[in-house]
Amino acid sequence: MRVPINDLSRSWQATDPDVQTAITRVAASGWYVHGPEHGAFEQELAQFVGLPHAVGVASGTDALELALQAVGCRSGGIVMVAANAGGYASVAAAKLGSHVIYADVDQSSLLMTPQSVKRCMGPGLDAVVVTHLYGNVADAQGIAQLCHEHGVPVIEDCAQAIGARSAGQHVGSWGDAATLSFYPTKNLGGLGDGGAVITSRSDIGATVAELRQYGWSHRYRIDRPGGSNSRLDEIQAAVLRVGLRRLNDRNRARERVLSQYSAALESSPIQLARSREGGVHHLAVLILPTGASRASARELFANMGIATDIHYPIPDHRQAGLPPPAWETDLAVTESASERILSIPCFPELTPDEVEWVCQGLNRLTRSLVT
Ligand SMILES: *Cc1c(COP(=O)(O)O)cnc(C)c1O
Repeated sequence: MRVPINDLSRSWQATDPDVQTAITRVAASGWYVHGPEHGAFEQELAQFVGLPHAVGVASGTDALELALQAVGCRSGGIVMVAANAGGYASVAAAKLGSHVIYADVDQSSLLMTPQSVKRCMGPGLDAVVVTHLYGNVADAQGIAQLCHEHGVPVIEDCAQAIGARSAGQHVGSWGDAATLSFYPTKNLGGLGDGGAVITSRSDIGATVAELRQYGWSHRYRIDRPGGSNSRLDEIQAAVLRVGLRRLNDRNRARERVLSQYSAALESSPIQLARSREGGVHHLAVLILPTGASRASARELFANMGIATDIHYPIPDHRQAGLPPPAWETDLAVTESASERILSIPCFPELTPDEVEWVCQGLNRLTRSLVT
């Protein structure tokens, strides 16, 4: 058996009538950017996440950049991010000329916490980005409370967590604004790039809506400085509307996969990166015990035909193409975890046989570690 880490062709069947209809409808309409599909998608998305404003943009990284810009990040200012979240927030901050500082993460969830944010607080902080990594829910409420006491805005990066809730609230509703990516592998993925900023603050929603289109307040009238072109196109919007209708079911399918992995690891020294509540499981990420060889673990899975990956292999502070942080912080957990994390297959269309086979892999790996 071969189990891929993901297989997008299973989620968007070439023959899917809903997708075909959506694409054909747009192609025949003669309206390809910011038309009726885009407007409808923004409304349906806002409704889904329970926030009044959703603004479509061209990617999740653009969403971060525009949201940071909208909350007042400026060249020479500082943005706090986690160093284990793929580098997207650091790239967005660097584009704005902001410096970054890195907050460490919790050792079982691998998420930023109010405590780790508090330890890194310092002068010149323009914003904090908290990432709901792997679909797990960070304590964004606690982080926002702490930051707001210091007058610092919070952006929630929900690129991996759309559909996740905690205490009845959708992720993205605690910060000043939140960002989404519709990159094809995300829980709500399109047939190309896309992203959105969601927010309860109408000032931020309006600013991002201007920034994404040249700084226009009205057609051909540039009132806002710093604008660019970052639009979500009509075909993506139409396809994402179909995806949005299926999202809760597909998230539940991921949840079923994760519970089986979780059961297989019940008395194993291997942990699954999970938050205490909520979560939608974008990725299934193992945390191997200290001292275990990740290379051997990968080989064991590879010999069984099971694909693995590492999210992410290089923490931001070790990336050659990112500027050094404004000041050094303690990143002991980030450092240690980056050597011990391993992603195993997790997508809604995994078959029961495939999940069972991965569970057998987990059992074999556990046995190899305890003997
Ligand atoms: C994918 C991702 C992004 C970036 O989204 P793109 O659409 O690829 O630009 C940002 N943050 C997180 C956590 C992501 O997983």
